[in-house]
Amino acid sequence: MFGLIGHLTSLEHAKAFARDFGYDTLDDAGLDFWCSAPPQIMDDITVTSITGQKIHGKYVESFFLPEMLAMRRIKTATRKILNAMSHAQKNGIDITALGGFSSIIFENFKLENSPQVRNVTLDFERFTTGNTHTAYIICKQVEESADKLGIDLKKSSVAVIGATGDIGSAVCRWMDGRLDVADLLLVARNRDRLQELQSELGRGKIMELSTALPEADIIVWVASMAQSLQIDVEKLKKPCLIVDGGYPKNMGSTLKHPDIHVLSGGIVEHCLDIEWQIMNTAEFENPNRQLFACFAESMILEFEKWHTNFSWGRNQITIEKMEQIGGASKKHGFKPLDLSLT
Ligand code: NDP
Repeated sequence: MFGLIGHLTSLEHAKAFARDFGYDTLDDAGLDFWCSAPPQIMDDITVTSITGQKIHGKYVESFFLPEMLAMRRIKTATRKILNAMSHAQKNGIDITALGGFSSIIFENFKLENSPQVRNVTLDFERFTTGNTHTAYIICKQVEESADKLGIDLKKSSVAVIGATGDIGSAVCRWMDGRLDVADLLLVARNRDRLQELQSELGRGKIMELSTALPEADIIVWVASMAQSLQIDVEKLKKPCLIVDGGYPKNMGSTLKHPDIHVLSGGIVEHCLDIEWQIMNTAEFENPNRQLFACFAESMILEFEKWHTNFSWGRNQITIEKMEQIGGASKKHGFKPLDLSLT
């Protein structure tokens, strides 16, 4: 059985979520309420592969909200993730994806040093960040959308915002090793980590966000920002392809320009309907088939019976592992969300 640990994107999202599940009385609930809410299994899921194989899983809501980090309620945030992992393990789930901020909190606050959650000793082999599949899907989205828009990758400058992150560094490796893009613009805040990445790649220009954006033909957003940023469309190149893989979204603005093409990054579409309710709250156009690539990773691992922490630790995603999970993803009927041109 596979599991998905998810979280809500904001206090507003939490209220809408509660309403959807019939808890109208929670409309006035503030952050304190959500801080004390224990994890819950909110959905039983069945997925059928194009091979005909069927698998079953569960969705575990951690009730973590990014506002908890913004308000510096770090202990609460870490408790939420550990409790959700313990809940998944107690319920006999073999492989569980740590969605969105769950894996970021796990890594940033070194939760591997806290495996004991009351009477449960966490077995980390049963969890995956899902980042290898997410990075693979984002790279495929760049490749396929550039092709659709007639953007020649070999002549393009690609800015990766959040380049030193787990997903960002994997995207850089692929952009260099598989797509051979003309220029890689590396953006993040910590300069030492940027320099380490630059030495590893043997290329890439370290830049500030404000100088990288106007130079980029393609922008990949994979920064772990608790709040979205507003972008000025006038300052971007035309045409420009933007793939926003952040959750919550890195870009707050809706960019309306015929030559600016924005695609939700790290999202896959399954070729058959998935039996579940939970994605109805995630604002997908086709919630029966669309989902986060990290969630799809735990489904793929379950299909293949690879009950192991396929994506684990930070900045260790190799091109070979991306190809391995990508092959299995295709085999079971997942494909990257594509750019719809209007
Ligand atoms: P990491 O924490 O590993 O990396 C985050 C990166 O963002 C780092 O390079 C960090 O560097 C940079 N960053 C953070 N804040 C800023 C900022 N204000 N400006 C510029 N750079 C910044 O995160 P992951 O790689 O695990 O995840 C990245 C994003 O992808 C997150 O939003 C996450 O929720 C989303 N995600 C989406 C998934 C999906 O299935 N679609 C799955 C998993 C994650 P520095 O701190 O030095 O600035």
